[in-house]
Order: sequence, then structure tokens, then C-alpha cells
Amino acid sequence: MVQDIRVELTKNKRVKPDMKTVKFGKSFSDHMFLMNYEEGKGWFDPRIVPYGPVEMDMACMVFHYGQEIFEGMKAYRTSEGKVQLFRPTENIRRMAISGERLVMPAVDEDMFLAALKKLLEVDAEWVPSEEATSLYIRPFMIATDVGLGVHASKSYLFSIITCPVGSYYPEGLNPIKIMIESQDVRAVRGGTGIAKCGGNYAASLRASLLAEYKGYSQVLWLDGVERKYIEEVGSMNIMFKVNGEVLTPSLTGSVLAGITRKSCIELMKTWGIDVTERLITVDEIVEAAENGTLEEVWGTGTAAVVSPVGWLTYKDKTFEIGGGKIGTLTQKLYDGLTGIQWGKVPDTLGWTVPVEK
Ligand SMILES: *Cc1c(COP(=O)(O)O)cnc(C)c1O
Repeated sequence: MVQDIRVELTKNKRVKPDMKTVKFGKSFSDHMFLMNYEEGKGWFDPRIVPYGPVEMDMACMVFHYGQEIFEGMKAYRTSEGKVQLFRPTENIRRMAISGERLVMPAVDEDMFLAALKKLLEVDAEWVPSEEATSLYIRPFMIATDVGLGVHASKSYLFSIITCPVGSYYPEGLNPIKIMIESQDVRAVRGGTGIAKCGGNYAASLRASLLAEYKGYSQVLWLDGVERKYIEEVGSMNIMFKVNGEVLTPSLTGSVLAGITRKSCIELMKTWGIDVTERLITVDEIVEAAENGTLEEVWGTGTAAVVSPVGWLTYKDKTFEIGGGKIGTLTQKLYDGLTGIQWGKVPDTLGWTVPVEK
């Protein structure tokens, strides 16, 4: 059921960033969406208000027990000046799955989509039109019960904030360096790895910081039990092309089901390329790198879309992939997906959703 959204427009417009120098996630649009939930009452008071701080009690449950989930998606401006979303229903459904794991209530699909569209209509001028830019959208939900007893909260706040983001690759698609993490783990089966929740990221920060310090962009996580199977990169899923075959770790219960991952698999299918989803050991990837059959490696995620991996390090041994250059299939996937997102190629798969205005 779609409830009416109250709109309170800002009286103080925020300064828009220069799209050439804007930093990811630092500059927010004029408005935000808020909606409250109470057990027995359901979701109520959907509203769009000026972007800004919200007063919160210091005993709010989210601060102490980490009941928080989020999503990440983008709005794109097409060459005709229209604004469109990319597979928003996938994000909406995934947030419900995350919520189920952390016993948080789902937002009605139609209500969620109506909120996204309304917010984008109100802040339409914040969807940038420069080449390769977009408006990043961050829906999230927090537990708002006040009190320190450990139990699932009975009240929640759902919000959507947005921020313009520049080109992820101002100098073209740069292959990145990835370190395979053999100490810390991100998630275990039965844990919260399948949920997009802040807690997973909190657990990943130590390894990421160490990797960054050593000059790597991100870490590649291994499974939490045997540290033997490849799972995913920090905020991206991972794909390999070995001896002509495209491989990606199966969704075993601790890997986040990326929408870019799914879209890559489906897009490749239309090109006649079958992707094998299975358990992949780090040893077989190292062996493929050593015997020269590891042709391409790339990460998939909303932020970078497709990110070529040029170097993989495991236990102090570094392997260069494809001469440290972007592979043919990686480039084709990037062009294919971003072509649909920015409306440059026909959306034959029906993935884009227009925002009227
Ligand atoms: C969000 C996320 C991804 C990528 O998902 P997309 O839907 O493709 O953006 C991959 N791994 C983790 C841990 C994530 O949080």
C-alpha cells in the first residue's frame, strides 16, 4: 500500500559540488526521505524533509546492538535528460532479506519505490548530467527503541539520502590491486554475510585498513571456516575468467548477492557466455595465475560497476593478471552495463525504471 508522502521543501538550498572534484559520499542533496515504524502500528508518516541531522536518544538500540541495514543504488541521467533507476526492485527485495536476517520490518515494495521516485522528483536537479556521473542513493534502516536491554527493537526509522557521485574512473578503467586476506574473515555461513548491514563492514575495517596501508585497494575475503574458498571483495562480488570459462563464487550463505553480479551473469548469458557458479578455492586461482590460464579478474558492484583486477596478492606472492591491463570481457561488461544505465544502448532486458518529471 502506498501512503501519501508529505513534502516539506528546504528554504536553504545546499551548494552543489563541482562534479569534477566531488568526493564519494561527502556532498548530500537538498532533501531526505524519512518514515517511522512501530510494532502494532506498522510504517507511518512517510515524509520528505530538508536534509539534515535528526535528534536521537543516546540509548537508541542502533548505537548499542547494531541493528542497521542499508542499500546502495544509483539514479542516472540519460542523454535525453531523463532520470532513471537501475533494477530498483532488486534493491528493495534485498533490503527485505537483510531485514529478515536482522529481524527488522520490510518496507512495502510499492511504498519504497514511490519514496524513491518522489525524492528523485523533488531533488531532480541533483542528478548530475556530466559524463559518467550519477546520483548515489542510500536507503537505510535503524533500530530506534530507547533502552539498553538486548532484544529486537519494536520501532525503526527508515531513511533515504542521496549524493551526487563523479566518474569512478576519471582516467579510464584502472585495474586495481587486491590482497587476499588470510587472517580476518568478513562473514560465516549462518551469520549476517547475506545481509547488507553495517556490522559486516565494521568487522571488515581492520583488514581493509591494513591492506590500504600496504597499497592495495581492497581485500578479497576467503570463507570464514576453512579460509580456503574465495568469497568476495570488500564491497564487490568477484569473477574470474580461467581458460575461457567465467567463474564466480556461488551464493553459499555468506556472500552478498550483488545486483551487479546478477546483471553481469544475465548479460553474459545474452552474449552466449555461461557463468559457472561454484565453490572456488584460492589454490586453484593461484595455480591458474601461475600456469598462465587466469585471463581476467574483475569485481562487480554498484559503485564501480565493473572493476578490473590487475594484481592479486596471496601470502606475500603477487600475481599480475593480463599484464595489469583491463581484459576484453571486463571492458565489454562495463560498456554493456553502463550503456544501459546511462541510456546509451537499448534496454532490451527491461532493467531501467524511469522517474517522471
Ligand atoms: C553491496 C555489496 C556488494 C555489491 O552489490 P551490488 O548490488 O552489485 O552493488 C557486494 N558485496 C558486499 C559485501 C556488498 O555490501
